[in-house]
Amino acid sequence: MSSRLKNITGTFDILPAGASREGVHAQGAAEWRYIEHRIRSIFERFQFEEIRTPILEPTELIARGIGQLTDIVSKEMFAFEREDTQYVLRPELTAPVMRAYLQHRMDQLGGAQKLFYIGPCFRAERPQKGRYRQFHQFGAEVIGVEAPMADAETIAVMMAIYHDFGVTNQRLRINSLGDAASRPRYRDALRAYFEPFKADLTETSLARLDKNPMRILDTKNEKERRLLDGAPRLVDFIDSESQEHYEAVKAYLADAGVAYIEDPFLVRGLDYYTRTAFELESDELGAQSALAGGGRYDLLAREIGEEVGVPAVGFAAGIERLFLAIEALGHAFPERSHPDVALVALGEAAGRWAFIQALALRASGLAVSVDLQGRSMKAQMRDANRSGARYVVIVGDTELAQRAAPVKHMATGNQESVAIDALAPYLTSHAPQGA
Ligand code: AMP
Repeated sequence: MSSRLKNITGTFDILPAGASREGVHAQGAAEWRYIEHRIRSIFERFQFEEIRTPILEPTELIARGIGQLTDIVSKEMFAFEREDTQYVLRPELTAPVMRAYLQHRMDQLGGAQKLFYIGPCFRAERPQKGRYRQFHQFGAEVIGVEAPMADAETIAVMMAIYHDFGVTNQRLRINSLGDAASRPRYRDALRAYFEPFKADLTETSLARLDKNPMRILDTKNEKERRLLDGAPRLVDFIDSESQEHYEAVKAYLADAGVAYIEDPFLVRGLDYYTRTAFELESDELGAQSALAGGGRYDLLAREIGEEVGVPAVGFAAGIERLFLAIEALGHAFPERSHPDVALVALGEAAGRWAFIQALALRASGLAVSVDLQGRSMKAQMRDANRSGARYVVIVGDTELAQRAAPVKHMATGNQESVAIDALAPYLTSHAPQGA
């Protein structure tokens, strides 16, 4: 058996070109750059600013922010201790972004902070299609605004990103979780409702009944799902202000032309949500159907130690799942970029000339490939063809002596002899960068 080291199961390498094999993401780095670039440009249109926070965070932030009883904190954290400090590889970015907002007094910048992020997250889950141990999220947080238009704007930017990629067949489910006082009342009602059905509950749900009965609503068990039909609904327990807030969010979503389904049993797995909660899912994804999720989290700042609450709303989305949705719809990614020029050099002197010439052409803004190991003309021509270079310049001792070389325009097959001292101006005018 080979002892060659491999990447950790549930992580993958993003190679220059993608591949369908274990440990490698199906899409290559160019596709990732393309996706990230388009996400950024939509956020820019909506005037969100990028924030980048560390991958390592204090464990306490995640434990207090997300909640001890959640799956993420109780089972899925990659956490370790080193010299009295407890570190966690961030499992999400909402708590870290809120930490940064509070730490750097971003409230003093005035108005709402509309922030977005793109980056890796880590959860010790059982890896399967669409579920990894290192995955990537993009998301947004609107911090400092309680007004329901902020909830609608958050959902609108999320939908705009999926639309931009042609992913339009998804379902948006929404609900309101009410304020901090609504939930205990609802939990009591749920406990009372499930009490006579205890014998029908799975072991997991029985354990949840006591501590956190709202989690039973997430059940995938058929029998339990049928029980939910008669269960009390959170919307009937929420305070009137939250009710009004929810109505306004729905009205703004209608204004924005965003279709949604109200789901009274959508509670989301994290503790910090209040009022609006939403999830975006697609049937194309199979078992891991969630593309994105989010909601309002006015309680988070207090939970991580702030005296005064800070209203905020946001969403988080999985990039790997966005890829899966795009692929499932059969959408193509744009062609990879090609070099402007490939230099083909024969012999040592020409090889050295090409090495220097490539640097000069690159300095004038062209993308240039050059052979680094004195290979045969056939091998160099094959690479030049494969790379899709627009121009190929072939140089040997004769060309060097005559100070002129053939420049071949690959699209037409036309060839022209160009003075080698004038190659840079010739190529930059024929193959301007970025063209
Ligand atoms: P959550 O914070 O769990 O709601 O996650 C937000 C989004 O991130 C989900 O809707 C998924 O698209 C994505 N996501 C969450 N966990 C994973 C994972 N383990 N692997 C891949 N994507 C994930």
